[in-house]
Amino acid sequence: MFLQKLKTFFLILTILGTFFLIYNWYDNYQFKNNPLNQTIIETINTKHKELEILTYQKFNIKRKIPVIISEKMPSKLYGAATYSKSGQIQIFLNKKHFQESLEYMIDDVLPHEYAHALMFIYGKTTNQNGGHTLKWQNICKSLNGSRCDRFVNHNDIIMGKTNFF
Ligand SMILES: [Zn+2]
Repeated sequence: MFLQKLKTFFLILTILGTFFLIYNWYDNYQFKNNPLNQTIIETINTKHKELEILTYQKFNIKRKIPVIISEKMPSKLYGAATYSKSGQIQIFLNKKHFQESLEYMIDDVLPHEYAHALMFIYGKTTNQNGGHTLKWQNICKSLNGSRCDRFVNHNDIIMGKTNFF
């Protein structure tokens, strides 16, 4: 009798596990194949606005810097700031990381890349320490960035062409 109960128990466990796997797979599939949901987009836009205001207040810079959500960035890169030959400055955020690291993307990555973009505006396009100089650090802090002294993205400033579109 005990064995019978044990069998039933494991059968139920297997069925539940299967459902869970399917649900998880479906959830990931939905995320990968759809644009970011409205709540996430609004969160990004709000932060972007906040950064524009801070940039104006603290550095008197009014320039609009586009923030682009990319599906084509390598996973190890959370964000990037790019500077094209024609002087165009853009920020890319890796869509793949918005599902499990929303807060990190908003509070760390976006201000981090924004600080790189401002460095470009100041004409500082040096690649020294991947662009993470003391001046960069100070700008990052002024933009209320979290952990401006620690960075996962070591190669997140890109001069010239990108294929992140
Ligand atoms: Zn960086």
